[in-house]
Amino acid sequence: MTMTTPSYKFDAGLVNVEKIAQEVVRRLVVEKSNGHESKPVYTNGTRTIQVPIGISVRHLHLCPEHVEILFGKGHQLGVYHELYQKGYYAAQEQVMVVGTKRCLEKVRVLGPTRPFSQVELAQSEAVALGMKLSVASTGNEPQTQPVTLVGPAGVISLPGGAGGGAFLARRHIHISDVTAQEWGVTAGDTVTLKIDGLRPVVFDDVLVRVKAGWRTEVHLDTDEGNACLIRTGQMGTVVLP
Ligand SMILES: [Zn+2]
Repeated sequence: MTMTTPSYKFDAGLVNVEKIAQEVVRRLVVEKSNGHESKPVYTNGTRTIQVPIGISVRHLHLCPEHVEILFGKGHQLGVYHELYQKGYYAAQEQVMVVGTKRCLEKVRVLGPTRPFSQVELAQSEAVALGMKLSVASTGNEPQTQPVTLVGPAGVISLPGGAGGGAFLARRHIHISDVTAQEWGVTAGDTVTLKIDGLRPVVFDDVLVRVKAGWRTEVHLDTDEGNACLIRTGQMGTVVLP
């Protein structure tokens, strides 16, 4: 067996040590499995599989029109660092999210732009802001709440509901169509996620999201990650139906 020293290339603008460490852990996990994702195993009649966890820090998605209002005419999002899912990135742009009790400064925009704007927060952040948020799968479901965003060039108020708003993201797992077939699940199914460690937690109702080309990754928010002391790049166990 030959050992090669992996080389890691990062964006020139990337100076965040934490982000570099996370990305190294992730790439090592992929390399360890020879580029192939792990396969389900049977234990006592239950099918389980090891999957990487990604902790989604508070963030927002913007439509192109809102990018221009918040950051100026003709403005386009810049890449701060790429995300684990190919084609998605944390943008250089940050905005202030205004609640009824206080504001959250420097909430990062994720790219690329989307058809409608949406703000994804953790429950602890919503409480601090004075906002009452519901769990939703996407940002234009009826239960999403109105929220105001302040950028360097302007202000927008998302109306909530079908017009886009703030919400607590439903915990979910991204998988490719190939993986979905292999696991025998389809988009909209739910699976159970077990996190081991010093503070083990079992998460039910993890929504399965499927798209060709997606890499397998669970997305939890920071409250969920903190509850079981897990960080981005660490592994969890999915229990398949
Ligand atoms: Zn996700």
